[in-house]
Amino acid sequence: MRKFSIFSKLFLLVALFFLTTPGRRLRELVTPHFTKTPKKGDKIGKYTVTSPWGPRNLGIAGASTFHQGVDLNTPVGTPLYAIGKSGAFIDVQCWTDQKGGGLVASYKSLGISFDYLHLSKCYPGKQPAGSVIALSGASGVGSGPHFHFQQRNVLGKKVPPQAKYIEWSLTGRE
Ligand SMILES: [Zn+2]
Repeated sequence: MRKFSIFSKLFLLVALFFLTTPGRRLRELVTPHFTKTPKKGDKIGKYTVTSPWGPRNLGIAGASTFHQGVDLNTPVGTPLYAIGKSGAFIDVQCWTDQKGGGLVASYKSLGISFDYLHLSKCYPGKQPAGSVIALSGASGVGSGPHFHFQQRNVLGKKVPPQAKYIEWSLTGRE
């Protein structure tokens, strides 16, 4: 009986910690999908979400049936920025995804991995946070120009992207 009550107190303390600001940061770092991911039709900056995270039916050969990112209707040449605290430098990898992603920019920042797919341009190497690291495009498999934003947790697993990071990638500001 006494042991049980100590465990409940401990549990309560842990639960309360996750409600504090450092607790929330830690929780986001481990499971970035705790905060909600945008829905179809949501506006982020000047752009609209055309395909959210989740199951979908496309009819395009080779396209996955579970969408592991968020698509926005950016025209070709839309500047895309590096997410990160000002003063930080981001190491951008530019590569071609043979499975349909086209030209891709990948980098790590804030303990999260980000991928920008279907690019028309990618600037590799060390780039200051908040600077333009890529231009959106229509490379790879897709129905037209769009920006596919992808987010991975510390284990490299794709997770539902958070609206605040998508907005950050489109504006260069938190
Ligand atoms: Zn997509």
